Amino acid sequence: MLYSTEKSILQILSSDFLKEKNIELFIKRDDLIDSEVSGNKWRKLKYNIEQALSKKNDCIVTFGGAFSNHLLATAVACNKANIKSFGIVRGEELNSNSNDTLIKCAEYGMELKFIPRSEYALRNDPLFLKDLHLEFENSFIIPEGGANFYGMIGCQDIIKEIDKDFDHVFIAQGTTTTSCGVLMSLPSMSKLHVVPVLKGFDSISEMKNLLNYSLFDEDLTEDLMKRVEVHSEAHFGGYGKYTSELIKFIQEFYKKFKVPLDPIYTGKVMFELMQTIENKKMTNSKVLFIHTGGIQGSKGVEDKEGLKLYV
Ligand SMILES: *Cc1c(COP(=O)(O)O)cnc(C)c1O
Repeated sequence: MLYSTEKSILQILSSDFLKEKNIELFIKRDDLIDSEVSGNKWRKLKYNIEQALSKKNDCIVTFGGAFSNHLLATAVACNKANIKSFGIVRGEELNSNSNDTLIKCAEYGMELKFIPRSEYALRNDPLFLKDLHLEFENSFIIPEGGANFYGMIGCQDIIKEIDKDFDHVFIAQGTTTTSCGVLMSLPSMSKLHVVPVLKGFDSISEMKNLLNYSLFDEDLTEDLMKRVEVHSEAHFGGYGKYTSELIKFIQEFYKKFKVPLDPIYTGKVMFELMQTIENKKMTNSKVLFIHTGGIQGSKGVEDKEGLKLYV
């Protein structure tokens, strides 16, 4: 076992507001798994790396943008697993000194290759991948964000570690890999609320694609998708965007519960969860919030007024 997920506890949050609305709110703390590897990134890598090791691949190749949590997680996890890693980075103008994420990737032994955006756009193209296999011999290629079958299977473990049932489960969405894994392992009484952080993202068809590709059963996919509610207007302007209102919410939340949230993913989900309770769309329920991590990459965040995240 490379990493243990023991540190990811299930915690109950209590406040007068929650009591008044008769909401039992639990939080699965995947942010506590590792100080360097953002919670769900490790879950998505686990079975990918196991595959590479059992197939005796010489290296792992993956993709990411300049601030990719997935890239850093891959560098750290491969370092621990003692397998060579290569990162294909979007943007030929960058280098391995461009920012903290890339510096750390290099420190963990990841070799970085910087390519133009036009070329990066081909990252899932079969011909591009074929060339990549020729360039990196005997490699195991993991898609951007760990978005594949093994990634999804790894995320099923989140629910398997919990011995309670919930009426509602809230989770952030980037590639949908984590939410699809969670959906597959949830009991049928639970509703899954997904919060995409990308503006104009088509959660339903992205999830259906990934589920169909992994389950080969469209009826089962349709059945699972009936339990999903998409909160498509909770992205605060899109990926990487946030407002002073969100930063203040994260600060107050930290003061009240001593749980740090990040402004890219988990802060937006918790804000939307509280809004849903406030608007009386959810009462007398048992609710689970899955804290997917993200704190690792957001320590230096400040808003326009210079407010720090966790004061
Ligand atoms: C990457 C990330 C996500 C997105 O997960 P997907 O599996 O791509 O949907 C959610 N939360 C945090 C904190 C992340 O770093």
